[in-house]
Amino acid sequence: MLSGYTAVYNATVVDRLLAEGAIIIGRQNCDEFAMGSSNEHSAYGPVLNDADNTRVPGGSSGGSAVAVQAGLCMVSLGSDTGGSVRQPADFCGVVGLKPSYGRISRYGLIAYASTFDQIGIFSINIPDAALILEVIAGADDMDSTVSQEPVVAYSSLLSEERNAGKKYKLAYFRQALEHPSLDPEIKSAITGLIDRLTAAGHSVTAIDFELLDYVVPTYYVLTTAEASTNLSRYDGVKFGHQTAEKTEDLTAFYKKNRSEGFGREVKKRIMLGTFVLSAFYFDAYFAKAQQIRRLLSQKSQEIFNNYDALISPNAPCVAFKLGEKQGDATEMYLADIYTVFANLVGIPGISLPLFRTNDGIPFGIQVMSDQLKELSLLALSDQLM
Ligand code: GLN
Repeated sequence: MLSGYTAVYNATVVDRLLAEGAIIIGRQNCDEFAMGSSNEHSAYGPVLNDADNTRVPGGSSGGSAVAVQAGLCMVSLGSDTGGSVRQPADFCGVVGLKPSYGRISRYGLIAYASTFDQIGIFSINIPDAALILEVIAGADDMDSTVSQEPVVAYSSLLSEERNAGKKYKLAYFRQALEHPSLDPEIKSAITGLIDRLTAAGHSVTAIDFELLDYVVPTYYVLTTAEASTNLSRYDGVKFGHQTAEKTEDLTAFYKKNRSEGFGREVKKRIMLGTFVLSAFYFDAYFAKAQQIRRLLSQKSQEIFNNYDALISPNAPCVAFKLGEKQGDATEMYLADIYTVFANLVGIPGISLPLFRTNDGIPFGIQVMSDQLKELSLLALSDQLM
């Protein structure tokens, strides 16, 4: 749809990086409109995981993850609507930070699902992520959803927080570690980590989360609904691909432009989103999903009233083989089970590369904290790395 398109203005994050003397060396491959978990829905073809070229890098921001993994750059940006920074970071063995909703301006970011989208950072270590966050975060007249909270001096305060040697109160969802889809190797690595954290004087508590199996359906109902409206602007007149064929009338023209321009996954989501928003089904799907989203926010409040952070896997499996999950959309969607919670409730989450399988495939853990508590999240992450 956007083949050959060059942005006519810089995103706020890009302007802020340039103002600090950052050298930008490239644009990265991504699943089309950030819809995907494997980079296989990109019109340009998939990026290959640098740990094993037969495997996917994760997605949607797979190109950004591999650019850091392969040492092509020090840091890169991606977008995370339901895990697209944390999951590719997990698959590629790098750090991936999704800040709180509203911590970073989305001005200049192509919208997928506006109440979920957040720009995130890939890096090798925590201090680099902290520094980039400090540069790009904060209020922006061009995005009214950005928090007015002042930006914390993450990079300098990080070392103070780290040296304080704080003992944390951590929690994890019992149902998350017991989920049948979770790879036993990931489960045992995380269980081992919990034991080590406890031995080091942190408290780690298992808490119940009965709504776990609802997070993926809720995410897909709400994000496809938002996507179906956001993507209506690509009609070949305002934006995007225009057919070379002659058409009967304006409706046929739009239809042809959109049919030719969008890839399969994007069309599927636009149709799903249009369906859940349609008058007849609105109450059954969209309204219900919004109610669940509210329950999830309450749950998140409860957790962070009592705990500093929540730990979790990033994904139920490690980087899989290219093509392996192409035939099974449901399985691919369900694999988002660990990342979408943070986007549904707007909290920050970070993926930390802590482990490797016996075959040398990287994976890590995810740590989440309360809204706008990025400093504490980064300090804890630095202790864990
Ligand atoms: N894998 C998720 C999806 O396909 C997340 C995408 C994202 O965060 N952009 O929707």
